[in-house]
Amino acid sequence: MDKEQQPQTSPHVLIFPLPAQGHVNSMLKLAELLALAGLKITFLNSDFVHEQLLRHTDVLSRFSKYAGFDFRTIPDGLPDEHPRAGHGFMKIFEFLESTTKPIFKEMMVNIKPRVDCIIADGVLGIAVDVAEELGIPVIQFRTISACCIWAYFAVSDMIQAGELPIKGKEDMDRLITSVPGMETFLRCRDLPSFCRASDTMDSTLQRISQDTRKNFEGHGLLLNTFEDLEGDILSHMRTKAPKIYTVGPLHLHLRTRLSDSSRTLLDQSSNSFHEVDRSCLPWLDKQPKGSVIYVSFGSLAVLSSEEVIEFWFGLVNSGKRFLWVLRPDNMVEKGDSIPVELIEGTKQRGCIVSWAPQEEVLGHGAIGGFLSHSGWNSTLESVVEGVPMICWPYFADQQINSRFVSQVWGLGLDMKDLCDRQIVEKMVNGLMVEKRQEFVKSATKVAKLAKECVNVGGSSYCNLDRLVEDIRSMKLNINLSK
Ligand code: UDP
Repeated sequence: MDKEQQPQTSPHVLIFPLPAQGHVNSMLKLAELLALAGLKITFLNSDFVHEQLLRHTDVLSRFSKYAGFDFRTIPDGLPDEHPRAGHGFMKIFEFLESTTKPIFKEMMVNIKPRVDCIIADGVLGIAVDVAEELGIPVIQFRTISACCIWAYFAVSDMIQAGELPIKGKEDMDRLITSVPGMETFLRCRDLPSFCRASDTMDSTLQRISQDTRKNFEGHGLLLNTFEDLEGDILSHMRTKAPKIYTVGPLHLHLRTRLSDSSRTLLDQSSNSFHEVDRSCLPWLDKQPKGSVIYVSFGSLAVLSSEEVIEFWFGLVNSGKRFLWVLRPDNMVEKGDSIPVELIEGTKQRGCIVSWAPQEEVLGHGAIGGFLSHSGWNSTLESVVEGVPMICWPYFADQQINSRFVSQVWGLGLDMKDLCDRQIVEKMVNGLMVEKRQEFVKSATKVAKLAKECVNVGGSSYCNLDRLVEDIRSMKLNINLSK
C-alpha cells in the first residue's frame, strides 16, 4: 500500500528482533510484508544493528515507501568493542535484561500512537514480559525451524525420561526417544551443546526449556517455515499451541507479494550488517552450470585457524570450483603462513569474499551445492533455490536442522562434529558428483512446494492474511473495550 493510501485506523505493530543478523533479516522481511498489507509498523533495532544497516544497506529509503513505517533504536547494553559473534554472543541476554528492558518499558508507555500488538522475537523474554505487564497483545516470532523449537519444548520430557543431560564421554549416536515425531532418528549429537550439562538443573538447559514453553502461550506463535516442509512436526506442536502461523519462507513470500503488487525487490537490496562484495557474481557468470560449491557459515560462527585450513585443503583437494565467504574474523591468524598449494588451487578454481549477496548467489545457475552451517535462514534460502547442502552446524538450532536436512528431507549430507580435509573432500564429491542426482531430485521437489505455499491460496499466503486479520481484530477489541 502506498504512503498516501494508509488509513488512519491501521493497527500499529511494533516488531522487536534479537539484535543478530539472521533474526533482523527475517523480521525485516516480515515487517515489509505487514507494511505491504497496510499496517503501521515500528521496527525496533539495537543502536549497534541500526548503525550497521545504515552503513551497508538502503533500509531507510526502501521502507520510506510505506506509510507510517518507523525505525526506532535501543541500546543492547554490550560495550561498543564487543565482537557480537561466536559463543560470546550469548552474553547479550544478561545486558538485555539489565539495560534494555527498563528503556523498552518506558518507550512502550510513551509511544504514540499506542501500540496495538507487539511482534516479539521469541527469544526476547524481556519484550514479552513488558507487553504482558502493560496489557499489550503479543505474538511471538521464533526465527528458527519448527523441528528445533519442538525439540526445545521437549527438553523437560527428555529430562524426565532420563535422556538428558548428556554427560561426559557418552555414545553420541545414542537415540533420543522422547521427542514426539523424532523417536527414530534424533541422536545425542543432533542436540545443541547446552544439552551436554552436568546436571538437570543446569541454568541454560532450564532457561531454554522455560522460554520455549512460554512461546506456546500468548496470542500466537509465528514461524518462518512452511507446512509442506515441517507439517508432521507442526501437527505435534499444534496440540500444545493451537494458534501457529507458518508464513515462510519469508524471503520468497516477500518477493512473491511484491511482484503481485507490481513492485519489485531491487536485486541489490539487502539487510546485511556487512559490506556486500558483489564481485563474486561476475566470477560465477564465468563458471559452468551447477559446478560451484558455495561455502558460508553465516554471521555468528567463528572458526579456528586450524578449521579454516582444513576446510581450505578439503575444498582445493576436491578439485571442484568453490565460492567461499570467509569473514575477516574467520581469517587465518596474522603470521600464519598459507600453504602455496592453497593459494594456487584458489587462483585456479576458487573465489573468496568477506560477505556475499547470498540469496542471489544461491539463485545463480553456476551453484551446484552449499556447504553451510545450517542456520535457518541459510537453510531456507537453499531450499527455495533447490540447492543441496553439506551441513557443518556450529551451534544451537543448527545441530537439529542439519539432521533434518540429511535424514528427513533428503536434501544433503550432515558432516557435524568432523572437520578434516579428507572428510571435507569426500563430502564435496559426495554432494557434487556421487549422490548429485538423488539430492537434486529431492531439492527440486521441495523448492516447488516452497513456491506453491507463498502463491495465492497457498498455506503461507493464507496464514499471513489470517495474521493480518487477527491483528486488525486486536485493535478493534482494544477500541471496543475502552
Ligand atoms: N548472509 C549473507 N551473506 C553472506 C553470509 C550470510 O547475506 O555472505 C545472510 C544469509 O543470506 C542469511 C543470514 O545472513 O539470511 C544468516 O542467517 P542464518 O540464520 O543462516 O545464520 P546466522 O548468521 O544467524 O548464524
